[in-house]
Amino acid sequence: MIKRISKSGILVGLAILLVLGTALLSGCAKEASAPSGKISVVSDYPSLTPLVDFVGEEDLSVLNLVGFKAADRAMKELGFERGDPDILALTDAGYIAQIGEYTSEGALDGVIMTAATSQGKASLINVHKPYNSPLWFAFFDKKSKNCVYLEAKSDVLKTYLDREKTGRDAALTAFMKLKDGEIFSPIAKENIDAAKLLNNPEPWQEKMVARVFGGNEFSLITLCNLWAMGLPNDFMKVAELHDHICPGLTSGYMITKYIKENFPSANPRNEYTVIAIPPWCKDDAMIQIFETNVGHKAMYVKHLTKEQQKALSGEAKKVANIFINKATNKGIVVGFDWPKVYEVAEMPDEAIAKFRDFTTYWWWWGRLKEDIALMGYLDKPEDFVCTIKEFDTTPEQIEKLTTAGVNPLVELGIMP
Ligand SMILES: [Zn+2]
Repeated sequence: MIKRISKSGILVGLAILLVLGTALLSGCAKEASAPSGKISVVSDYPSLTPLVDFVGEEDLSVLNLVGFKAADRAMKELGFERGDPDILALTDAGYIAQIGEYTSEGALDGVIMTAATSQGKASLINVHKPYNSPLWFAFFDKKSKNCVYLEAKSDVLKTYLDREKTGRDAALTAFMKLKDGEIFSPIAKENIDAAKLLNNPEPWQEKMVARVFGGNEFSLITLCNLWAMGLPNDFMKVAELHDHICPGLTSGYMITKYIKENFPSANPRNEYTVIAIPPWCKDDAMIQIFETNVGHKAMYVKHLTKEQQKALSGEAKKVANIFINKATNKGIVVGFDWPKVYEVAEMPDEAIAKFRDFTTYWWWWGRLKEDIALMGYLDKPEDFVCTIKEFDTTPEQIEKLTTAGVNPLVELGIMP
């Protein structure tokens, strides 16, 4: 009896063990078949969900998280929810700021998926900077005109990116636990309403000198305020390359509009030869709008000395660009009317006189004032751009005009 009981007891025991074992094994199997990159950080921070869903848990990186952290802080500082149409994000992430050897494009996804601002929604300006520029983020609220700026500490970021290579889960978890001040410096919040800055420039000048936005003050006050006024998307792409919006860039944008109307080409990248004479900010607009890069041999740049400038008279004083169409062998010399800009922007004499005095507020004051005035004329390029000369040419002359040592204005009879 006892034996029998114990026998059946053993059998029951074995059966229980078998069931438990199977359950354990299947549990282990489940664990093993989960994504190999499964990490704990996601369950600890639910607000990471949109970002993690987008990049994939197995590919989540410290770079994604720095974008998340910047956006998350800005959302608290400015009091906005993800997807708020009044918010503009700006960053040099991925274009082309690097952290040591690490490229920074992952931070873009961190911003886009956290704040839900994007280039497709025209609520993200990706500012071009050199490879060794600090990685920075800015968020601007159209309603309050407040702007939050965060600059990533390169050394901290690099440490975590190095750690990520050998122990990603631990690196991500540790990075998420860092305080904002340990990742970013400076973290600044300023009101950059153009009307306020123009009416009372001294306090802002102090902040410009103090580099409250890490040296990006002029970029941010112009990009943000003009975006709030309804910056067209093609102009935004021009500004991304140029880093800021100045009246020089706007003049270039207007010249491209004038050329589209008065000297059109079905294939600008292949047909146009553009000579920038003299070059100024405008020429970045030509490159973006017509894809007439120097590297495509579609853009030639020729400086004019003070003496050469003095030799220009009449309409030729306005000279800005020569456009040649290689398909038709026709050319046009266009000019830009700066006195007209002073007029429409109601520039005080002192602002014109001190336009290049970078020791006072006048330099940014004058540019911001003109920027804002010109926004009302983006569709009226003919008010500022003029045709100085139209001409017929030949492949031989085109080669000559673009060759080193040749002054195309002399060649075309515009300058003695
Ligand atoms: Zn400029």
